[in-house]
Amino acid sequence: METIVQYWPWLFLLLPVVYLFGWLKGRSNSADNQSESSHTLSSDYFKGLNYLLSDQQDRALPVFLKLVQIDNETIETHLALATIYRRSGNYDKAIEIHQNLIAKPSLSAKYRSKALLELGRDYLTAGLFDRAEGLFNDVIRSGFYDKAARQYKLTIYQQEKEWLEAITEAKTLIQQGDTNLKPLIAQLYCELSEQFFAKGNIKQAELAIKDALTYNAGCVRALIARVRNAVRIKKYKDAIRYIKQIQQTDSDYFLSVLSYCVEAYRELGKVDELIDYLKLVEKENININLTEVIAGLITEHQSADEAQSYLRKQLSLAPSMNGLASFINLMNKQGDYTCNTHFQEIQKVIESMKKQNEQYHCNKCGYTSGTLNWQCPSCHAWGEIKPVAGNINAQY
Ligand SMILES: [Zn+2]
Repeated sequence: METIVQYWPWLFLLLPVVYLFGWLKGRSNSADNQSESSHTLSSDYFKGLNYLLSDQQDRALPVFLKLVQIDNETIETHLALATIYRRSGNYDKAIEIHQNLIAKPSLSAKYRSKALLELGRDYLTAGLFDRAEGLFNDVIRSGFYDKAARQYKLTIYQQEKEWLEAITEAKTLIQQGDTNLKPLIAQLYCELSEQFFAKGNIKQAELAIKDALTYNAGCVRALIARVRNAVRIKKYKDAIRYIKQIQQTDSDYFLSVLSYCVEAYRELGKVDELIDYLKLVEKENININLTEVIAGLITEHQSADEAQSYLRKQLSLAPSMNGLASFINLMNKQGDYTCNTHFQEIQKVIESMKKQNEQYHCNKCGYTSGTLNWQCPSCHAWGEIKPVAGNINAQY
């Protein structure tokens, strides 16, 4: 029973196979012996199916392959069967069927390319990327299924983190009319930029970011990286200009550059201007995490009383766990409640609740995490993970 449950989702895929077997068998027999042939079909077919269901893949394959001889008319049946094997994780069987097909000299060039493409997919799914890549190159050379082969190559390069190769392949696909790949290319350039940045090659990192923005001027990831690079090479005025651009493009990500914002203004000796700017940002989009940072800056540059009254005012406008925790922290720093153990207990509870909050959320699949991933670890979509408003634990 467990085996049936395991196979049921793709058993539906067998329906066209059953139909085709029936049709082919029916077609090859005259009307007077049709019922007899149907009986033979049923017996052979169900024998094969029984082997599949009882997890005897080795015995099932020859039964199915025996049912239909390979020719241009039956190839779809073989391809469907191989797909079933691949989907159920039986890569060896899928590969065997596809290799059988490719070995037939009678097959048309187009079907041969299709079999090569599917064989490449078998290897890709099995994680044998080098072999898959070679097969996709063969497909591209054949002149058929060029786009599909390139798309699979693009998948391989992304999984292998071969960003330059991925960019080249995506550019070719764009030239062929697939313009919706532009945001992906921007992400790939961002990945390339990260590699350069990690090696300390800021100039190359900068160039890659420029390329990313050429393909997607609103790529928030590239805009954030550009801020970080500017701060790294001490171009603080540029950094502030870029930060303001992010705030206008996608204010949800403003907290991702907040630490750079504070650093840039500090280095320029303009903390009062910074406080004014952050208050302005907060007016447009109340965010208690931003309030925490502003309150910290007010404490540092003006007075603790002013910070507390600012925090209290913002907390009443937008009540949140983080804001409350921040308020209590500030009061503790001022020495108001340090001797009150009950108050300290409340503070501990609030801090642990704050940690449990999800901070980033994938718009596509719902994946949540405490760190910002540009490619979703769950559904592999790019740029779909966004900060959950009010839950980011801003630091500066
Ligand atoms: Zn996702």
